[in-house]
Amino acid sequence: MTDAAKQITPMMAQYMGLKADYPDTLLLYRMGDFYELFYADAEKAARLLNITLTQRGQSGGQPVVMAGVPFHSIDTYLARLIKLGESVAICEQVGEVTGKGPVERKVVRVVTPGTLTDMELLNDKTESLLLAVHQGPRNTCGLAWLSVTQGEVHLAECAPDEVAEWVARISPGELLFSAGATPAFEARLRGLQAPGAMSITVRPDWQFDPALGERTLLAQLQAATLATWQAQDLPQAHAAAAALLGYAEHTQGRALTHIHSVRVQRNDELIDLPQTTRRNLELTQTLRGEDKPTLFSLLDTCMTGMGSRLLKNWLLAPRRERTQAQQRLGAIAALKSGPWLKLREQLKGSTDVERITARIALRQVRPRELVALQQTLLKTELLAQTTRGLEAYLTHISGHLLPPAGCAELLASAVDAEPAVLVRDGGVIATGFDAELDELRAIQTNCDSFLLELEVREKARTGIANLRVQFNKVHGFFIEVTQGQVDKVPDDYRRRQTLKNAERFITPELKAFEDKALSAQERALAREKWLFEQVLDQLQVFVPALTQLARALATLDALCALTERALTLDWCAPQFVKEPCLDITQGRHPVVQARLAETSSGAFIANDTRMGPKQRMQIITGPNMGGKSTYMRQIAVIVLLASMGSYVPASACRLGPIDAIHTRIGAADDLANAQSTFMLEMLEGAQILHAATPNSLVLMDEIGRGTSTFDGLALASAIATQLHDKTQAYTLFATHYFELTEFPAKHHAAINVHVSAVESGRDIVFLHEIQPGPASKSYGIQVARLAGMPAAVLNHARHTLEALEAQATESNAQVDLFAAPPAPESTAASAIEMAVAALDPDAMSPREALDALYQLKKITATS
Ligand code: ATP
Repeated sequence: MTDAAKQITPMMAQYMGLKADYPDTLLLYRMGDFYELFYADAEKAARLLNITLTQRGQSGGQPVVMAGVPFHSIDTYLARLIKLGESVAICEQVGEVTGKGPVERKVVRVVTPGTLTDMELLNDKTESLLLAVHQGPRNTCGLAWLSVTQGEVHLAECAPDEVAEWVARISPGELLFSAGATPAFEARLRGLQAPGAMSITVRPDWQFDPALGERTLLAQLQAATLATWQAQDLPQAHAAAAALLGYAEHTQGRALTHIHSVRVQRNDELIDLPQTTRRNLELTQTLRGEDKPTLFSLLDTCMTGMGSRLLKNWLLAPRRERTQAQQRLGAIAALKSGPWLKLREQLKGSTDVERITARIALRQVRPRELVALQQTLLKTELLAQTTRGLEAYLTHISGHLLPPAGCAELLASAVDAEPAVLVRDGGVIATGFDAELDELRAIQTNCDSFLLELEVREKARTGIANLRVQFNKVHGFFIEVTQGQVDKVPDDYRRRQTLKNAERFITPELKAFEDKALSAQERALAREKWLFEQVLDQLQVFVPALTQLARALATLDALCALTERALTLDWCAPQFVKEPCLDITQGRHPVVQARLAETSSGAFIANDTRMGPKQRMQIITGPNMGGKSTYMRQIAVIVLLASMGSYVPASACRLGPIDAIHTRIGAADDLANAQSTFMLEMLEGAQILHAATPNSLVLMDEIGRGTSTFDGLALASAIATQLHDKTQAYTLFATHYFELTEFPAKHHAAINVHVSAVESGRDIVFLHEIQPGPASKSYGIQVARLAGMPAAVLNHARHTLEALEAQATESNAQVDLFAAPPAPESTAASAIEMAVAALDPDAMSPREALDALYQLKKITATS
């Protein structure tokens, strides 16, 4: 091997210097028209993107392994890599080509799953969120999250065992935690499952510092105190915010100047919607993981992506306190009378002002986005006019719909109405905005006419009739005069070239024109780039007002969508009351109803629900397919819709305070987490018993089904008793255990209801009506018949059933399912004893010891 081959080439030295700062990130290194990846990055990218791996030359005695993608199709490759959970650092050429050593290069941006800002990479109906979690002392964790395309940081603090729920609710694209986290905490975070794909990034421990966080937040908000946002006294959340903002800036390669506010979320502010509830109610994803049909897909008739994202947020984060919901209901009532139609017409075609504003702040905005923004700004004035005076809340919104003075004008004067996609292609800045640019452009377009005009002038001046002004690539511009006329040329003609029959001259005027023309295109491009940067500078002052405007547009859009739904689907306004009550008249499940209508499979049967202090539990029985699950879910969906401030699918609805919606529905093995159907059922059941309060709505669908009949029945009755006696939540308890229909006889706040069905011969007809009292039988065999079970199997089952029923009647050994359980002290003592026995103090770190202590306290509190 030659010495040269052993040496590291200057370019590879530059590459390795850059790569050292991004060890866990794919580095895309710009080389001319390609982005190249090297070595391990190249191998990984080749595998993930199915691109060719090549070897070129040697550096440091090793062949240089590389893979590249063309620069103009970078967006497609980025999208694929981000979808696969990868982060990508984009390294551009920033210096001039000097011929000495490689061109200077710099990482200008890091694209990670949680910090996306490119319109092409973002889903317009879903926020892409970045979340930092900090493991603080004294059993408190801090959380901070944001969407880089929004102007707000969110903060929260919680106990370590609540982190999973928070992460599930926030559903970030990327989660950050400290390299200093304990192995147990790290394992917990890595084991978390967010509904979508979530990538995990470890950040240096020093970045999770409360004091640094407070300083960073104050600087970000340009404020002297966090008290304005009631965000003081949250040191662990501040620590998370330090890491969050540090990382977000690092990825964007600049400060996030558009983030101007902080919102603190406290545990008890929102209606608790555990992950199981969000899943079981199919709020944003079906149980099969599809986007529709879901409650959100039914609700979302928004005209803009901003509206859709806000509406989703309303659905997933309803507040316990009803002021906001009342405001929205008031607005819907006003919009319903007519203005909604006009407003939706005016909203049509509005662009994503929120994301474009963030992209202005991050200086990533594209020319066409600015044109779209300008066109939208022209319409918002009209929207403000239509909204103003309709109703208090709408008038408040209309105040933010006015475009900031001068913004639309600046855009209209600066940006061409049909600009190129990228600034580097030119044709972006509007004619008339800059005299110098206009002149440069004029030189390009007017070159021919200038030459003709000059020729006429020079002919007249010199009296040389056959004088010609011409251009060629080698000699540039010249005035050609035949040899016979040369003595007529004026003094300011300088000889450029002598030909056989003619002389070529240049004049100072033509020389100046030549200089201009030859570089005009290049200079025009450079000028445009510079002007575009100037425009971006000028736009920065509008960012706060545009952020507010975006919010107002999104709110109006979401309210109009809810109005449209209320009218189209014939929903009613819910009424909030202070006393405990859940009163629904003619309630429907909107998604099931829509599906029935779509498939023309008959009408949806509406049902009433009356629950209050005296009737807190319904034991629901009836045949499979009778509509038990639908009935229970429709109640939860109605409660949720009301709480977010929407009209509801019912003819009347009165609702007392609600703090949570818990569901235990269906059974599916969670193999990924090594949990069996039954284990999962019990886990979810236990969580509900611990968390529910008298203001919670609890849906229990066939609890106890995952084990043997006796076990299951015993557990189901014990759970029902606990919910009735201790928890006292509004409980809907669907069961196939007939024995449980005895429950209301001994429990005053429980009643039996059943879904009706009638037998016609050997068949069964479902009426889907909820009626008082228990079901008379279970019809399992009839339903199996409907499902096409072979006749021989049905016969066999029928005989076995008769035998079992006869046996049951003969046996008179009655067990009192609802008899009081043995004294609780003994179980509590044994639970504590078992937990203490399991401890090994010598093998524990101080933190684990503290965790254990909290665990023991919890056992005594819950038993
Ligand atoms: P299982 O006990 O097997 O879980 P189920 O009693 O919970 O059954 P659902 O799953 O609620 O039954 O309903 C079965 C089907 O019946 C629904 O998919 C829907 O098509 C129809 N259905 C349910 N409720 C109604 C209703 N109120 N009006 C019209 N159709 C309904």
